[in-house]
Amino acid sequence: MIDDLRILIHQGRQYIGDITAVKLPESFRGRPVISQIPVNGPELVELCPTGAISNEPFTIDLGKCVFCGECAFARPDKIRFTQDYRMATNVRDGLLVKEGEDRPIQVNAAGIRKEITRFFRGSLKLRQVCAGGDNSCETELNACSNVNFDMGRFGIEFVASPRHADGIVITGPISENMADPLQLTYDAIPDPKIIILAGSEAISGGIFAGSPALNRSFLDKYRIDLFVPGNPVHPLTFINGVLALIGKGK
Ligand code: SF4
Repeated sequence: MIDDLRILIHQGRQYIGDITAVKLPESFRGRPVISQIPVNGPELVELCPTGAISNEPFTIDLGKCVFCGECAFARPDKIRFTQDYRMATNVRDGLLVKEGEDRPIQVNAAGIRKEITRFFRGSLKLRQVCAGGDNSCETELNACSNVNFDMGRFGIEFVASPRHADGIVITGPISENMADPLQLTYDAIPDPKIIILAGSEAISGGIFAGSPALNRSFLDKYRIDLFVPGNPVHPLTFINGVLALIGKGK
C-alpha cells in the first residue's frame, strides 16, 4: 500500500486533465487559416494531392485534406496551420475552411438527433471498422483509451462486438472487399445507432477518392452523425468531437 502510494506520488497525474485546452507542439497541423493575400490559386489547386483546395472562393476542405502541409510550405503567407485540434463537426460543409475566416469548427447542437443525447450521454460504446485503412487512424483511435487520453472516464469505449455497440466508427476509404463486412457490422448494431467517419479517407476517400477499388455506397444510405478530420485523426480531435455529439462538450 505504502509502495503504491509512493509510486503514485512519484509518477504524478498521467491523464490529461482538461482535454479542451491542450497546447500541442507547433509541428502539429490542425485547423488551417487562409489569409486574403492574392495568390496564383490554380497553382495551389494543382499542388494539392487530394483536391482539397478550391479556387474562387479559395477554400480548403478538411474532409479531403491529408494535412501534408505542401500548400503551407509553398505559400506560408497564404495558408497557415494552427494547433487547433477541435475540428470535428456533424455538418459536412462545416469542414470547409474559407479564405479570411478564423473561427472554430464546431458540432451544431441543433443538428444532433434527439436520441443521441437522450440515450448515449452517460455511456457510449463504439465498434470500429477499418474499411481498407492503413492502420494510422486505427492506431490513434486505440490511443484514445490509453492512460494519457483516458476516453473511458467519459463513458466512451470501443467494444469488440457490434452487438454490444451503440454506433460504428469507420476508418479507411471503404474498399470493395470491406463493403459487405461494413454493412453486416452496421446491421448487427441495435437501434438507435450512430455513424462516425474518422479521417479524410473515410470522409472523402482521401488519396484513394475515385478509385475503382472502393465501394462507398454504404455512405449514400445513412445519415452521418459526426465527421472527424485528420490523417490520421488525433485522439483529442476524436474525443472532443464525440463529447460534443453526445452533449457533453465544452
Ligand atoms: S495540407 Fe491539405 S490542402 Fe494543403 S496540400 Fe496537403 S492535402 Fe492539400
